[in-house]
Amino acid sequence: MELSTTPSKPEITLEEIHSFKGKYPKQLWYLFTVEMWERFCFYGMRGILTIFMIDQLLVPKQDAILQYAAIQSFVYAFTFVGGIFADKVLGFKKSLIFGAIMMVLGNALVAIAPDSLFYVGISLVVIGTGFFKPNVSSMVGELYRDGDPRKVAGFGMFYSGINIGALLGGILCVYLGKYVSWGLAFGAASFVMLVGLTIFSITKRQLGPIGNSPLAGMPKKQRYLRELLTYVVAIIAVPLIYILVQETTYTDYFMAIIGPAALVYFFIKYFQEKDAAVRSKLLAALIFILFSVAFFALFEQAGGALAAFSKDYLDHTLLFFQVDPNAVNNSANAFFVIIFSPLLGLFWVWLNRKKKEPNTVVKFGIGFILLALSYIVFYTLLFYINAEGKTSLNVFTGGYFVMTLAELCISPIGLSLITSLSPKKLGGMMMGLWFLGSAYGQYFAGMLGTTVLPVLSEQPSLEELVTYCGGFKTLAIGVFGVAILMFVLIPVMKKLMREVK
Ligand code: GLN
Repeated sequence: MELSTTPSKPEITLEEIHSFKGKYPKQLWYLFTVEMWERFCFYGMRGILTIFMIDQLLVPKQDAILQYAAIQSFVYAFTFVGGIFADKVLGFKKSLIFGAIMMVLGNALVAIAPDSLFYVGISLVVIGTGFFKPNVSSMVGELYRDGDPRKVAGFGMFYSGINIGALLGGILCVYLGKYVSWGLAFGAASFVMLVGLTIFSITKRQLGPIGNSPLAGMPKKQRYLRELLTYVVAIIAVPLIYILVQETTYTDYFMAIIGPAALVYFFIKYFQEKDAAVRSKLLAALIFILFSVAFFALFEQAGGALAAFSKDYLDHTLLFFQVDPNAVNNSANAFFVIIFSPLLGLFWVWLNRKKKEPNTVVKFGIGFILLALSYIVFYTLLFYINAEGKTSLNVFTGGYFVMTLAELCISPIGLSLITSLSPKKLGGMMMGLWFLGSAYGQYFAGMLGTTVLPVLSEQPSLEELVTYCGGFKTLAIGVFGVAILMFVLIPVMKKLMREVK
């Protein structure tokens, strides 16, 4: 006698996903939410790290700042490794789930014992983010058929989700940590990560074949063995990160090795590629990534020099309200992104319909011009200094608005572009390389901040305020130079990008 079983619903096909009607595929909303919670956890943790180390772990201030910078660089640097493992062994879905579990555990460990397990927990979070972060963006890219002009709007919306998480996490975790308990702040990060993981586990079926294991054709036993090996390698890396984070003298060595090693790996893959068109697009992607390093080096002044500047030199009036300038420094960018990212995304689609959408190289060029303008706005703070030696928070916020527009011409567009320029089998690695670019941006931001925007003394002084403004002008001039270079490269880049716009 045969048992009658209800046939399970067949998996959604790629063709069905690609032929969505309207502006956004429904899967975008699932990935949006998952990434939103991950960014809540990431930016929440980022917001409290330095204060936690100084106040709770009693790490000397200078060491805490260096350790914070090391953690930031490592988090983005490991996306490169995570991307490669996703391409070769795990696939985006499994990689993301593994990364999320590491992040849940990492934050939970710190929540349970903030004093003794902090560095172990953080090391887990670093590796976890490496496996998680690049792969969500890669999956967003795969929701679209090649050449679908709606992709850029999808990334615009997705980027908004990133920043909703960043804003909420930044506010809530800092509040919990400072006023309730550190344990609860890390606990909240762990909890929301668990929420993200649960949402992904429930909705991942809707992604059909997107993000499935690249080893699907391999015998199960062999495949599991490789997967297991990947997990083991990742876990073995935890003690290594544990050491690197605390011994910040190693950070420079690490950064001196990982970038060149990634480039060597990139060029091995590049020369192995037989198809000239694929090679040419890979090269274009690499050039965009190098430009993104310059962008993030200036953009990331937000957490360093601009934060220090807001603490000492801004008045407390924003329009008709009294606000803390550091709160503005920490949240204005995310706030502006949430509102303007989807709008700008739809604006590109609208231009596309009118056949007037600029090429990505032009958008990047505009991004650099806007970035330079934002630093010009910061420079003009020099003309608003009042009798108390403070300058205008309104103008400063205006500078952030322009900087956010710059970011929107580069960061979400860069994500979209990487998914268009990379062949499927290298998608994870290339997205990882994009974020490795951010790691270097972050790393150079520290160096740039201390040389162009040096702290003159422990006490705020008019002289220092003037030095800061002069530094903003120098940075603006430098960025104009980068913008010109980008515009000069337009014909070369267009050729390299082939059919990709
Ligand atoms: N703010 C964006 C994010 O968190 C961009 C980060 C980056 O590439 N440096 O995803």
